[in-house]
Amino acid sequence: MERNQVYNFSAGPSVMAEPVLRRAQAELMNFGGSGMSVMEMSHRSAQYAAIFAQTKEKLIRALGVPDTHAVLFLQGGASTQFSMVPLNLLPENGCADYAVTGHFSGNAAKEAAKYGSVHLAADTAADHHTRIPRQEELCFSDHAAYFHYCANNTIYGTEWQYVPRTDAPLVCDMSSDILSRPVNVSDYGLIYAGAQKNMAPAGLTVVIVDKRLAGKERAETPLMLSYQRMIEKDSMFNTPPCWCIYMLGLVLDWLEEQGGVAGMERLKAERAKKLYDYLDNSQVFQANAQPGSRSDMNVTFRTGSEALDAAFVKGAAEEGLLNLKGHRVTGGMRASIYNAMPMEGVDALLDYMKRFEVAHHG
Ligand SMILES: *Cc1c(COP(=O)(O)O)cnc(C)c1O
Repeated sequence: MERNQVYNFSAGPSVMAEPVLRRAQAELMNFGGSGMSVMEMSHRSAQYAAIFAQTKEKLIRALGVPDTHAVLFLQGGASTQFSMVPLNLLPENGCADYAVTGHFSGNAAKEAAKYGSVHLAADTAADHHTRIPRQEELCFSDHAAYFHYCANNTIYGTEWQYVPRTDAPLVCDMSSDILSRPVNVSDYGLIYAGAQKNMAPAGLTVVIVDKRLAGKERAETPLMLSYQRMIEKDSMFNTPPCWCIYMLGLVLDWLEEQGGVAGMERLKAERAKKLYDYLDNSQVFQANAQPGSRSDMNVTFRTGSEALDAAFVKGAAEEGLLNLKGHRVTGGMRASIYNAMPMEGVDALLDYMKRFEVAHHG
């Protein structure tokens, strides 16, 4: 198929905005008259240093990152943060609170338990992770070093629609909804996100950390996993993921042209509302996530029949609506509608769903 015949609903790595790819293509062989590609540049060169500094500045502007917080460009994916967070923030005899609302927050809690005591402030497993706990349900321990939660559950299709309140610093996995809405960064001790959902190609992990929390890592913390070291070295202790950082810069330019995170928030609400309104009135499909907990980024749904789900996914692919199969732990379908998904993609999906419904509603 040709690129213009396809809408890619992949959960990650995921669709990138076409103008971003076109610009990367135009600059690929010879960046800014340097005679070389960004891929070929020394990370210590003046030219690359400018790309790095500008990308960081753009991210600070897009999210309104205050001076108290450092922006780090790391590697290892969001999953490395599952261990980097406790190594740096959880004292030997300390305790950390975790809300388990899905697959990745469960993994984060398990990893932290290797380093200290983990208290589950909430666990929605009994509800098959179809909902987000309410503030009143969260049960915090007395002297937690931090409270960790995952803002958007990519696999289950649920999203926190409020910022939880507790005395401990908030640590938030925003891998799949960062840059989709404004956030008050000062509310957080630490935010982390793998880039490959809403920011850039895989290989970059963004960390935004309150500098006052850094510098207390355990003695055995690997150098590469020390926030303090990375803050001191401005993420250049070793070679950073240069190309992904450059791509993030292009994405942030595009984002600004689209009205920034406020513009993204309007668009995502519109995209998601179309799908959920349809699902709630469908005779064939049901949304998995409960109202009030639904993700605007990953819409999960099913027909109730595995055979029909498979037919739906297959038929969709034949029309160029790709990667709609749900994660293996949930089954069913998942439409990931990140920032870069054009409204036309959602409309094409809806059109297909309606035709599928007419054909299969007996
Ligand atoms: C994809 C994802 C992860 C895992 O990210 P990696 O970069 O593959 O380690 C963790 N948390 C959330 C919320 C995700 O969506």
